[in-house]
Amino acid sequence: MKKSILSLSLVLLFFSCNKKENATTTAELDTKFDQYKTFFIDELWKISPEWSSSQGFHNYDSILLIPTDENDRIQMKFAQSQLDSLKNYPLNQLSDNNKTDVHMMENLMNSFLFSINEMKSGTWNPSQYNVCGAFAEILNGNYDTLENRLRDFDLKMTNIPAYYEAAARNLKNPTIEHTQLAIAQNLGGLSVFNDDLKAALAKSNWSDEKKNATLEKAAKAIQAIENYADFLKKMDHATPRSFRLGKELYAQKFDLDIQSGYSAEEIYQKALNEKEILHGKMFTLANKLWPKYFPKTTKPTNKLEVIRQVIDKISLQHTTPENFQSEIEKQIPELVDYVKEKDLLYIDPSKPLVVRKEPDYMAGVAGASISAPGPYDKNANTYYNVGSLSGWSKEDSESYLREYNDFILQILNIHEAIPGHYTQLVYANQSPSIIKSILGNGAMIEGWAVYTERMMLESGYKNSDEMWLMYYKWNLRTVCNTILDNSVHTRNMTKEEALHLLTKEAFQQNAEAEGKWKRATLSQVQLCSYFTGYTEIYAFREELKKKDGAKFNLKQFHEKFLSYGSAPVKYIRELMLK
Ligand code: ZN
Ligand code: ZN
Repeated sequence: MKKSILSLSLVLLFFSCNKKENATTTAELDTKFDQYKTFFIDELWKISPEWSSSQGFHNYDSILLIPTDENDRIQMKFAQSQLDSLKNYPLNQLSDNNKTDVHMMENLMNSFLFSINEMKSGTWNPSQYNVCGAFAEILNGNYDTLENRLRDFDLKMTNIPAYYEAAARNLKNPTIEHTQLAIAQNLGGLSVFNDDLKAALAKSNWSDEKKNATLEKAAKAIQAIENYADFLKKMDHATPRSFRLGKELYAQKFDLDIQSGYSAEEIYQKALNEKEILHGKMFTLANKLWPKYFPKTTKPTNKLEVIRQVIDKISLQHTTPENFQSEIEKQIPELVDYVKEKDLLYIDPSKPLVVRKEPDYMAGVAGASISAPGPYDKNANTYYNVGSLSGWSKEDSESYLREYNDFILQILNIHEAIPGHYTQLVYANQSPSIIKSILGNGAMIEGWAVYTERMMLESGYKNSDEMWLMYYKWNLRTVCNTILDNSVHTRNMTKEEALHLLTKEAFQQNAEAEGKWKRATLSQVQLCSYFTGYTEIYAFREELKKKDGAKFNLKQFHEKFLSYGSAPVKYIRELMLK
């Protein structure tokens, strides 16, 4: 089945490359380009079945591709064909929406080539090979009947032994960090083929014979995963590759993943500078607040220590575990009213955000997050999931509530909901593009949410010295994420230096700092997306303010900016300046 799909897709690609475009008008070319986008996504899903499943497209749920060289060649061929086809669509003849789509498709194809030819993480990151998550999604999904999902689950298991054999063959000199992660995550996911599968089979109407055949297949899958873990455990790591990416690969990955107008080095320098600016502002505020919170205590001589003590004291103002959810729910309509009253941007009243208690499968991740429907499930609600602290130990919930104190909790709601992620999403859905809903630019999306935090405070939201001090602490986190990521991957930053940066200069707790260090050793570039997107949006706004003078209108700027959808900030800027 897999083979025939792939060869069919290559035939189609061949035709698409040789298609001649004779369009004369923008409208005609746009229509052609829309058809091509549909074709592009159809083909993309054939060679990326797991990605398509995660986006809610379930035709290829039963396919598990084996990570062979042949598979890489198919991906490369796809990328090169599409890069050729994209040349048939001259940017100056397309609508703005399609212009940014071209850039994003091109970037994805270049990312495919970069990942196969340069990054080669398949040879050094064993955690890249893990089937458990995709199988768990099939069991937990509610898009089809249990029996249909079990049929896909069963078919997909067929290739598991070959999949892990290929994985072991691909690995040349893995890093110790990714090897440990791979062992933990692969063994951690085994329950999917064990208890979880058994529970699902018990609920199905399958015959015992059919159930047993599936369980036999599952036993082979479990064996393959255990063999892979054993293989990894036995590796000698005589001269292991470093988890540090190095300057050159890092710079390239930054350009492809972030698609920023700044280089990795430029944004690193900006982050260093911003850290000093924030420390200056924070000391001014902490110094002013000191007598209010410590009337009888002598002020420490170290400026960072003054800031820390005032922050710790203010963090004691927080809600209770019982009121955590209702506090968040209460703030959403307040934020909507405020944005209206200050005329910051239009909020569509027909699309209210549905606040709900965090569903069980997300439990344990307290706080708040947005669940947006995927591109194939447009009419579903967007939810604001609010975590519960019930069942948490007294110490854990106290520490959590200090972190998300009365001030930070409001900034979190601005970021996640109004006018942050949720509002951006509503605007993005108004210029629908399958490309942007699948390839949405992370730096633009996170940058917008971080931008709105500062924008809201600048407009006077809950104005107080305490609010600003806590905001700066929150913002310092994104700044230091960038410094950390770049320093770890290109400047040999040690763990000790990293923990110093995060705890002493960014005022984080030890547990948070340890977790961040681990994340920086296992991922690359992603930690920069927040600060990079934010810096670009803020700088662009200031640029327009200067240019337009008295004519500048903040509301118009926000609405126009968001109307381009989740495209990279540099392209939105280009189109808005045109
Ligand atoms: Zn407390
Ligand atoms: Zn965010």
